Amino acid sequence: MENNDRTDFCIECGSRDIFEETSPFTHVVKGRPVHIERDHHMRCRACDAVTYPGEMLRAFLKSITDQIRREDATLAAGCDRAPR
Ligand SMILES: [Zn+2]
Repeated sequence: MENNDRTDFCIECGSRDIFEETSPFTHVVKGRPVHIERDHHMRCRACDAVTYPGEMLRAFLKSITDQIRREDATLAAGCDRAPR
């Protein structure tokens, strides 16, 4: 199966020993930790780097955005209860 949208080697070390994985992962976005419970990515067995080739990147960016939105909604709700 040919898929030009997908990188089949590690962009960090060039190893071809990478595999698909779904696991909890905490990303740091603009200095803020964002925890994704089911993060879908490729992991390198050689250097442990995590990459998001092609359509995985789109899904990844969406889950990051959704998670930040959820956390901000929770924060906003908390602020409403703060004293004026
Ligand atoms: Zn690697």
